[in-house]
Amino acid sequence: MRKGIAVSPGIAVGTAFCVNKIFIAPAAQPAGTVDIQAELAKYDAARRCAEEDLITLRDRAGDQLGASGAAIFDVHRSILSDTGFLNRVQDGIIEGRLSAQASLHRALDMYSDAFSKLDDRYLRERLTDIRDVVQRIEGHLADVHSALDDDMLSSNPVILVVDELLPSQVVGLGALKIRGIVTQSGSETSHAAIVARSLGIPAVSGVRDILDLVKTGDSLVIDGREGLVIIGPDGETQAAYLKLEREFFDFKDHLAENRDVPALTADGVEIELLANVNSVADAKAAVAMGATGVGLFRTEYLYLTHPTVPCEEEQVEEYVDVIQASPHHRVTIRSLDLGGDKTVPFLGRMHQESNPFMGWRSIRLCFEHPGFLNTQLRAVMRAAAVAEDLGGDVRLMFPMITTLEEICEVRKLVVDSENQLRSEGKRFARVPLGMMLEVPAAAISIESMLDLVDFVSIGSNDLVQYLMAADRDNPKVAHLCQPLAPPVLQVLKTVIRSCLDANKPVTLCGEMAGHTLAYAVLLGMGLRSFSMSPALVPYIKEFARHLSTQTAESILQHALTIRTTLGVRQYLSDELGKLVPDFERFKIT
Ligand code: PEP
Ligand code: MG
Repeated sequence: MRKGIAVSPGIAVGTAFCVNKIFIAPAAQPAGTVDIQAELAKYDAARRCAEEDLITLRDRAGDQLGASGAAIFDVHRSILSDTGFLNRVQDGIIEGRLSAQASLHRALDMYSDAFSKLDDRYLRERLTDIRDVVQRIEGHLADVHSALDDDMLSSNPVILVVDELLPSQVVGLGALKIRGIVTQSGSETSHAAIVARSLGIPAVSGVRDILDLVKTGDSLVIDGREGLVIIGPDGETQAAYLKLEREFFDFKDHLAENRDVPALTADGVEIELLANVNSVADAKAAVAMGATGVGLFRTEYLYLTHPTVPCEEEQVEEYVDVIQASPHHRVTIRSLDLGGDKTVPFLGRMHQESNPFMGWRSIRLCFEHPGFLNTQLRAVMRAAAVAEDLGGDVRLMFPMITTLEEICEVRKLVVDSENQLRSEGKRFARVPLGMMLEVPAAAISIESMLDLVDFVSIGSNDLVQYLMAADRDNPKVAHLCQPLAPPVLQVLKTVIRSCLDANKPVTLCGEMAGHTLAYAVLLGMGLRSFSMSPALVPYIKEFARHLSTQTAESILQHALTIRTTLGVRQYLSDELGKLVPDFERFKIT
């Protein structure tokens, strides 16, 4: 058994299909045996075929994932036609007298060397894109197709075992019979994780030595809730997990049947279950899962997959696509939240910060690039006019708000953008403006900020990491970065109370919104609006039916007297276990 990171819930039992090796360097050829002109021509032909593939893939991705999902293939096309890249390969053939394939590998080695020395995660991730492009060209040079086109994949349900899932492979996944995914590298926020969740495929990431332990054809079990991979399970284990897998599907089907039923507590109080989305595909999943709107549209995805700053028209198109695909066309768009661990070179991030999460990120970074924010504000307000035509509505919120001055500055920038659009005669709609509550300083001064915003959305992922001084991405301090820690509960209670007293709509859009234990205490605090990964909506909807607001209040009262995180968790599990039939099945934490 191996433990990795649980990235997409569910159980899968099946046969492994391993895709590891893609890069075996070709055997060296003796000097002088290479026909330079022939190799150059071969490379050129392979490059053209790769270009055609990418155009096809981009169009397919556009249909499946929308403009943001398609943009990655334009990045790949730009790598393909990059003169630096081309020169390296050609030099290898002409001067190094290498075959096209060997020269391609030499170029990749050079890039790998250079990239491995970079601290910047965004740039390191771009190496994945270069590898993807190299693999594609190589496939044409050798006249073989991508391992993922293999017949086995299109006919038998398998568990895909890969080092990393390349962006181009991800797009094709929807059409293949993939039961589960295990990756050697990657995290909860990697491409593989995001897509697996929106396709509802159970997945486990970060299982370091999996490709040394498993070969194609081995039987495997993966548990995407616990992050477990069982290799070569014995008959009994396999049977037990097959039963769980069946139950998981039955349960999911049963839950999905409730998608048009309103979300109610046991005492009939309506709650709002919204979805967190990154793309059109997620917005469609939100509809399928019965969310009533989008509570967090993370717009960074568009920038992260885009070769340059997306222009206003591109942004309008993407936002309109997401609005059209979203439940009731209700979407809360979050302004750009780059920086920290999500950086893009076109922002001109010149130096490495020693504390990126506390540094120049998010709204702070946007203030230094007002033109950048201005483009986004204009695009959002123009897209909002389309939402109005569709009978929906758009709200806009700003991440990482720390001070009152920042809210004033944001409001001023919004008014400037409105004035511009008006004077240009462009159609737009004014949008409610909200703050994300993610910084302890803002939590303490929330009352003084409320009259300047139209709504509040609690970003508990960041709020918890800042309150507990524990990096949300660092497994070594994961025991501290806990949303059910007593001090976190105290702060959440105060913030929610302040919003309710001031009649300001309040939502919570961090991961804890989709965790059943946390849901219970948040309900007890008076929260009625929750935004989560689309796949979790049916779980919380069903869970909610068993818990009344009064019971949640009394559970909360007692939970607030407990002094340790473990104690809180234990108490909540015990209490909810008594109330909710089959509580174990709902345990997503
Ligand atoms: C959060 O911080 O809780 C949040 C929803 O934003 P993100 O996870 O994108 O930082
Ligand atoms: Mg955040």
